[in-house]
Amino acid sequence: MTETVSRPTRLGAPDGLPTEILHYIGGRTVPSRSGRTFATLDPVSNEPYAQVAAGDAEDVAAAVVAATAAFTDGPWPRMLPRGRARVLHAIADAIESRDEQIAEFEAWDTGLPISQARGQAHRAAENFRFFADLMVGLGEDAYRVGSSQLNYTLREPVGVAGLITPWNTPFMLESWKLAPSLAAGCTVILKPAEWTPLSASLLPEIVAEAGLPAGVLNIVHGIGEEAGAALVAHPDVPLISFTGETTTGQIIMRSGADHLKGLSMELGGKSPCIVFADADLERALDAAVFGVFSLNGERCTAGSRILVERSIYDDFVARLAERAGNVVVGPPGEADTQLGALVHAEHYERVKQYVRIGVQEGARLVAGGDRPAHLPGGNYLAATVFCDVTPAMRIFQEEIFGPVVCVTPFEDEADAVRLANATKYGLAAYVWTSDLRRGHRVAAEVQSGMCWLNSHNVRDLRTPFGGIKASGLGHEGGTHSIDFYTHQRVVHVAVGDLAPPRFGLRP
Ligand code: NAD
Repeated sequence: MTETVSRPTRLGAPDGLPTEILHYIGGRTVPSRSGRTFATLDPVSNEPYAQVAAGDAEDVAAAVVAATAAFTDGPWPRMLPRGRARVLHAIADAIESRDEQIAEFEAWDTGLPISQARGQAHRAAENFRFFADLMVGLGEDAYRVGSSQLNYTLREPVGVAGLITPWNTPFMLESWKLAPSLAAGCTVILKPAEWTPLSASLLPEIVAEAGLPAGVLNIVHGIGEEAGAALVAHPDVPLISFTGETTTGQIIMRSGADHLKGLSMELGGKSPCIVFADADLERALDAAVFGVFSLNGERCTAGSRILVERSIYDDFVARLAERAGNVVVGPPGEADTQLGALVHAEHYERVKQYVRIGVQEGARLVAGGDRPAHLPGGNYLAATVFCDVTPAMRIFQEEIFGPVVCVTPFEDEADAVRLANATKYGLAAYVWTSDLRRGHRVAAEVQSGMCWLNSHNVRDLRTPFGGIKASGLGHEGGTHSIDFYTHQRVVHVAVGDLAPPRFGLRP
């Protein structure tokens, strides 16, 4: 098993923090076949706290053997949905019983504020419950063709699914892929993000306690270009569900093409939050501030471009800057922290580089832009607001993925839509107006997979989730996820007198 230290090794370290994180293959935690490891750091000290097994093609191959055996010979794909649902509910129970530990691990490893990490653990449990129930209620389709034919579908799990996840809200996003793939009857190989392997190290114990058969869930840790790439390249993994950067998604699509893999791509975003002058401005402001500074701004659906109607622009910018200045930046483990430490020193540098770029490009910095004075170490950045940002600027176009927001004025509805659509991305959009006819018009015109009208980012798990343009390919959520992890084959049966045309008779 993964080795744990009984007492915290460092100030603020959660109880039970492992010093070693291993793969999970065929129901056993194992080191890499090569014996190689890499260090994982916490984002407050930027010091290593554990060594992680560095998986490569050999470890992936071992995981594929285990997952294939569990698929071909094991009970999981053959169980009735109710049987699988029982196990998935038990996984949800096991997650809930460890909610505090999961939240503490997540906050330690990712730098997310503990108050927000707690929500993620509960969402993860809910993902398992939701897909368990969905699968039980899901039937197969039948189509009657007059009195001559009956067509019906057979829904079957595709096989071994490869799940590749990012470092933002890692545990929740892992559950977002694990729950539907397992509910559908697939066996899986999860490759967690290398910067945040910690919370996934709890999964072996959780699934074993819940009674998931060995080999159904396998975890291979490692660097994306090595372990992730090997998973994508493996011929016996017919499906890859990927969440991460758009450029990584492009690499995966190229590699997946060799074996015509089924691909689900949840990629980057640069989502607009459009505020019209007639909006409930207090609520719009609350949502705008929360939408970009919660989860450290490391959120794919962050409203990272705020477009504001000219007549209220100056006032809105002033209020936004004031609110940003009040966002509590602090250690992830502290209860009142609203904005924690960015996940990794490399990412922190990248986000700060964007702040420098924004200043060089001539955007006006009205809040943040630097490390708060009271936090001399760690990857901390104050909530940062740039205004007068134009579409020509890189900070308008590129995903920063941190607590940095760009504000741009617009003249009228057409201008708002033009600006909203002026990036390559199309993940989310937020529209604030009290004119509902306009709200619906704009929601239809904005190029995004998801749009929230007079609402912050609250999702019903039944709805399709995904982006358009450079933000993704395919949809997950509700039955869309199940469709991805299952084949639907169709059987056409003659029930009437359906005589085929008679070819080849003697003339
Ligand atoms: P990333 O693309 O760097 O890494 C994501 C995962 O892919 C990691 O596990 C990584 O190890 C792996 N990987 C990297 N190179 C690979 C390769 N060549 N082959 C196979 N796997 C490889 O992304 P990140 O920096 O971890 O995450 C942040 C990005 O994720 C942002 O762009 C964000 O918008 C996006 N994201 C999107 C959604 C969504 O639902 N659309 C949700 C969360 C995050």
